[in-house]
Amino acid sequence: MKISVVIPVYNEEKNIPILISRLLGILKEISFSWEVILVDDGSTDSSFKALKAAADKDERVKVLRFLRNFGQTQAISAGIDRSSGDVIVLMDADLENDPQDIPNLLNKIREGYDVVSGWRQDRWKDKYFTRRFPSQMANWLISKISNIELHDFGCTLKAYKREVLKQVKLYGEMHRFIPALAAWYGYKICEVPVRYEKRKFGRSKYGVSRVFRVLLDILFLKFLFKFLHRPLHFFGGAGIISAVLGAVAGLLALYFKFSKAHQKDFIETPLPVIMTMFILLGAVFILMGILAELLIRVYFEGQDKKNYLVREELNFKD
Ligand code: UDP
Ligand code: MG
Repeated sequence: MKISVVIPVYNEEKNIPILISRLLGILKEISFSWEVILVDDGSTDSSFKALKAAADKDERVKVLRFLRNFGQTQAISAGIDRSSGDVIVLMDADLENDPQDIPNLLNKIREGYDVVSGWRQDRWKDKYFTRRFPSQMANWLISKISNIELHDFGCTLKAYKREVLKQVKLYGEMHRFIPALAAWYGYKICEVPVRYEKRKFGRSKYGVSRVFRVLLDILFLKFLFKFLHRPLHFFGGAGIISAVLGAVAGLLALYFKFSKAHQKDFIETPLPVIMTMFILLGAVFILMGILAELLIRVYFEGQDKKNYLVREELNFKD
């Protein structure tokens, strides 16, 4: 078994030397072969120099340097693409994760789990409203929609079997949802408590606006999990509801026009406008659903993707 540790780095100059010495200290004790892949995500400080120094000392330390800052997800993705391990361990460069926990994660992988998620203990005691509460809510929401109970999706320190990461394609800021995606594909997941230490050097690259981006991503995941294989049912459903509302408004308008007791002309109520709006909206929804159906066909067939995954095969010869 070979281990690849993949670490995104963005302006972490002071953390890198400490991180590397701690990490290599641990890796040299385990009995597997290993490599560390550090991806410099367009740092503007001297991070790259520190990375180069580490790479010069040990050739198992590999460094990729982006042209500019592309984001944490892209850095992770690039590291994974260039890795060769059977097991990939992801972690942050800011020393919030402790490399000492890696052997624990690896033990669980050897027990047969496909994904082992770190669960950071004692986090954000002091920043309840800006950090801890949003994070608890997000974890709860993601657990609900992905049907997998994890306490800490946001913890980057996690170990994955290579095949899992080959399946899961990462876009936007989706690195937070790899376990949720993995669970959706059907992989086996467990979590282990890991140490957490507050950042000492440099600062967090994310502010409170992350809360909203995570919410939008969750919304998208919900759609993905439920309707990826049948988008017309989603858009078509909304379209039919909208068209029915439009029809009701139209019937009401007719009723008022011809009723003796409540006579009102078309221009006296907003009903005709409402009817037009909802019927148009319904038609647009249904057309979007049809487009989405075409898109997923292109998506699956164009890349020769299967819409199912097989864990084991018996007696198939090819
Ligand atoms: N990071 C990155 N590119 C970015 C932002 C962050 O490579 O655009 C790296 C950063 O150097 C760190 C990890 O991603 O190793 C997590 O970032 P951070 O600690 O700022 O996030 P937080 O711990 O606040 O969630
Ligand atoms: Mg951090």
